[in-house]
Formats: sequence, structure tokens, C-alpha cells
Amino acid sequence: MSRKSDGKVGPLPDTEGLDAQGIIRAGVAAAGGAVSMASSFSVEDVVLIDLLQKVAPRVRVFAIDTGRLNEETYQVAESVRDRYGIEVDWYFPECQAVEQLERDKGMFSFRQSLENRHECCRIRKVEPLNRALAGLKVWIVGLRREQSVTRAHLQPVERDEAHGGILKISPLADWSERQVWAYAEKHALPINGLHRMGYPSIGCAPCTRAIEPGEDLRAGRWWWENPEHKECGLHR
Ligand code: SF4
Repeated sequence: MSRKSDGKVGPLPDTEGLDAQGIIRAGVAAAGGAVSMASSFSVEDVVLIDLLQKVAPRVRVFAIDTGRLNEETYQVAESVRDRYGIEVDWYFPECQAVEQLERDKGMFSFRQSLENRHECCRIRKVEPLNRALAGLKVWIVGLRREQSVTRAHLQPVERDEAHGGILKISPLADWSERQVWAYAEKHALPINGLHRMGYPSIGCAPCTRAIEPGEDLRAGRWWWENPEHKECGLHR
């Protein structure tokens, strides 16, 4: 689907009673312009890519290479690329900003304070995301309500005021973890190897770890911070 905007932002579509495929169709139909899907190559995102190939195969997939991703994430990205024959639109941080950050504060400044962590996420994730979303009318994401307290009120369709009021579609908003895995296994989808190692959430290598049985699904992200702080600025 074209990345060019026609200057209009569509209204919120009614997704009451729709399943994930129906939500995708409604979101794409309401777009009135370019649509793209953001992927971290978690199991949710691969499920969503599979659904997109079935109902809206022209929607492009983008990903942000923060420079700190795990090898397993690149591997599953390549498996997805091979399986579906799609291009992934990778976005990188501005190199001068990363160079300055590392010269000034070293390689692990994000562990020193919440302010430093937000600075690193802003440089490595938020700025490239803003470029990825430029010109879009709709972005599609693999968020689910049960993933964290910060996502408990997630709606399948929201207006993303942090990104110019474009529509943000979460077709898996009300899916359980069990549903996600059942779909992935039924369709033999490529799985990020980190999930098999106990990572429920996929992110940057130094800020993501495996969790213990019974721990919150987001417990492995920025585990040194309070739960209400556990977003990186991509989803506000
Ligand atoms: S998740 Fe960690 S390494 Fe990645 S951008 Fe945020 S602070 Fe930096």
C-alpha cells in the first residue's frame, strides 16, 4: 500500500463484535490513506503479519532496529521475510544522536535513571518511529490488554493523539496469550527463539529478560523500574 498521505484522517470505525480479521478490514477501509504495521517480531506480531497476508496483503510492515536487538529477532524477521515474500521497512536511529549518547554516557546509561532510559528510548525508538509514521493514516500494532497495567484499557481502534491523530489499530487487543500461541502453532508460524527461552516480550537485549512462572508478562522489560513506567514512548 502506498506510503503517501492524501491529507485526510478517517473517522473511528465501529469494530463492535468484529474478530481480528474484521478489525483489520475495518481499519484499512477507514484509513483514507496509507496504512502500515509496526513489528517487533514477537509472536503477537507474527500472528498479525499472518492475518494481514490473508485480509490486507498490501499493508506494509515496518520495524525499528535500535542497534541493541537480539540475534533471534533478526533471525525470525528473516524467516517472516522468506515465508511471506514481503519486504520489511527497517528504520534506524539517527547515527549522530547515538554516537553522541554513547560518547557522553556510555553503553548502559539507561540503567542509571528513568530520565536516561527515556532518553535512550527517545533516540533509538521514538525518533525512528516518528519517521516511520510520517504520512500514515493508520498504524496496526500487536498490543494486547493483558500484557501490562499500561495496556489494560487498550481499545481495538484508538485515535493516536501522540502521532497527529492517526488511527491506531490493535486487532489482538482482547486476545489471550493462549489464543496467540494456539494460532501460531496451528499455522506453524516462525517463532522468535527468545520466546522459547522464557521471554514473553521482545525488545532490546539489555532491557529485556526471561521471566519466572507466575511473573507479570511485562516483568522482563526494564525490570529495575516500576510497572507503570514500562513503556518506551512508542505506545502512549
Ligand atoms: S529499550 Fe533499552 S536499549 Fe532499547 S532504546 Fe530503550 S533504553 Fe535503549
